[in-house]
Amino acid sequence: MSMTILFAAGEGDFATYEPLLRAGLDQAGIAADLVLDAAPDTVDLIIYAPASPLQDFTPFTRCQAVLSLWAGVERIAGNPTLTQPLARLVDPDLTQGMIEYVTGHVLRYHLGMDAHLSAQPGDWAPTPPPLARDRVVGVLGLGALGQASATALVAQGFQVHGWSRQAKALPDIRCHTGEDGLRRVLGTAEIVVTLLPHTAATENLLDATRLQHCRPGLRLINPGRGALIEDAALLAALDRGQIAHATLDVFRTEPLPAAHPFWAHPKITITPHIAAATRPASAARSIVANIARLLRGDGLLHQVSRSAGY
Ligand code: NAP
Repeated sequence: MSMTILFAAGEGDFATYEPLLRAGLDQAGIAADLVLDAAPDTVDLIIYAPASPLQDFTPFTRCQAVLSLWAGVERIAGNPTLTQPLARLVDPDLTQGMIEYVTGHVLRYHLGMDAHLSAQPGDWAPTPPPLARDRVVGVLGLGALGQASATALVAQGFQVHGWSRQAKALPDIRCHTGEDGLRRVLGTAEIVVTLLPHTAATENLLDATRLQHCRPGLRLINPGRGALIEDAALLAALDRGQIAHATLDVFRTEPLPAAHPFWAHPKITITPHIAAATRPASAARSIVANIARLLRGDGLLHQVSRSAGY
């Protein structure tokens, strides 16, 4: 019997995803109608993205699961009408994008590239950077993206400290937890990458108090979520030199409003939420693989914990 899969991930993206999902479903031997609209009580699965107008999941009484096309699920995880299991996207191309973004921006800071990009005639004071093995990088968040990025930094030779909610043992990464662990990472690392989800517990994690514990001259890279860092506290920390520079990919309001002080700040680099895009071909394969697992009875992968919010 054919199942009904509702594509609630933006009408504009349906033309891109439809052939990819159909091909994947056919290949996996899954008989399914992939639709943009259906009577809610006929829908078996929902593919979702925050652009969707769908907010009330109550009438989807038959729906077995909601599969997000985004890794960050803060805009749906707290939806009280959503009682069905929710899976976030963990996908090889998304992960590779984040690895490349993090590695590139860490190397920018590590090598001091900016000083050379703006070099003028007569600027000749050779100060070679240390080797990566003499540089400590902190990664806050050791999930799918944090772990992959931390591992890539280890492969470059960096000393990597990581921080997560639950204790971890990862090869060549010094793993920390709790408030003490966070202070240790912030106080030790010269470059910190934030790859945490936005939840009640991580909102404003880097506030004025915690930023005061950062190693002076810290370089901060935030491809996680804008709300992890208190905007005003970051500006103050940059102005007093506690933080030397910040590269921000995500913001409380996106696109970042033209009048926001981040745009004009000389110690901030802004990238427009491009760290790790969902790439349709790879994402469609990951979604179909998860649907196939569910139908085989192997359980949904990457299920979001409603209580933790990620
Ligand atoms: P994930 O696999 O769910 O990992 C989240 C990590 O954060 C886990 O290590 C988790 O700890 C840790 N964490 C959560 N709450 C915490 C807390 N209160 N204290 C300490 N650690 C905490 O997520 P992911 O797939 O790596 O993605 C991370 C985030 O990246 C997403 O939520 C999204 O916001 C962002 N993102 C951004 C882009 C972009 O283009 N900029 C693209 C994709 C994703 P445990 O391991 O102990 O559970």
